[in-house]
Amino acid sequence: MDCASEPTGFHYVGNCIRPPSEADSILIQATIGCSHNKCAFCGTYKDKRFAIKDRAILEQDLAFAQSYCRHQRRVFIMDGDALVMPMRHWEWLLGEIRRRLPWVERVGTYANSKAVALKSDQDLRRLKELGLGIVYYGLESGHPEVLKRVNKGATPEKHITQGRRVKEAGILLSVTVLLGIGGVELSLEHARETGRVLSAMDPDYVGALTLMLIPGTPLCDAYERGEFQLPDPAGMLLELREMIAHTELSDGLFFANHASNYLPIKAHLPQDKAAALALIDQALAGRVGLRPEWLRAL
Ligand code: SF4
Repeated sequence: MDCASEPTGFHYVGNCIRPPSEADSILIQATIGCSHNKCAFCGTYKDKRFAIKDRAILEQDLAFAQSYCRHQRRVFIMDGDALVMPMRHWEWLLGEIRRRLPWVERVGTYANSKAVALKSDQDLRRLKELGLGIVYYGLESGHPEVLKRVNKGATPEKHITQGRRVKEAGILLSVTVLLGIGGVELSLEHARETGRVLSAMDPDYVGALTLMLIPGTPLCDAYERGEFQLPDPAGMLLELREMIAHTELSDGLFFANHASNYLPIKAHLPQDKAAALALIDQALAGRVGLRPEWLRAL
């Protein structure tokens, strides 16, 4: 369901953001904005005040999906940290999805560390039982100083704890990290520490995006004042190389194929690590072309 073409689109407030892997999912906007909304690089929800939407509105959107989305097997719950909704909302929503859309095979949502921390282990297991199949978790960096500078609201150890709790509840864990977020100054340290934290979280999927500065965000302001320098394309590749080299997953897919990235990589770790590093080395040596700036997008 595309928000732009959705006939009941007036129920959707502002931009509808979902992961690339949820492009064909039924999008249900159960919350508006992000309850944290303080990350220095993120401008996605700046114009939205966090709110949980009324059930009456969601019922209409679910009724629409019941009639018109019978071939879509996945539901994605928005906005930015929808997992933060209290359990009573989640239990109602997942129950309605089961009742009205019985063909749906998986429900996914976004989460940050606070949203997971507010759920008990029992809550997470209950969400899994009710159909929550995947959580997309924003780590961005595993470096303590970078996390502090970008106001992510959690330490590396807190991220490890919360990520592992999602996995232990049997919910697939997809973790997003950001190349370039440590700037030139902390580039390789950010890569190494992020690899360490990813290894400890051991997610099912990693999505490495390349930071794009959004006008009006504190990080973009710092860039314009000359206080933050973004690595150049070669620097970004070196950072990606260092991150993959320091990431040990037991059985996970490491994607760096987002439209924001200079070199598309899709590696099944651990077995594809050497091939991924070799491809990056070839790109660094100029033997593999990079995505041009004009083709990069968020
Ligand atoms: S937690 Fe996610 S959605 Fe919220 S401000 Fe940070 S990056 Fe943006």
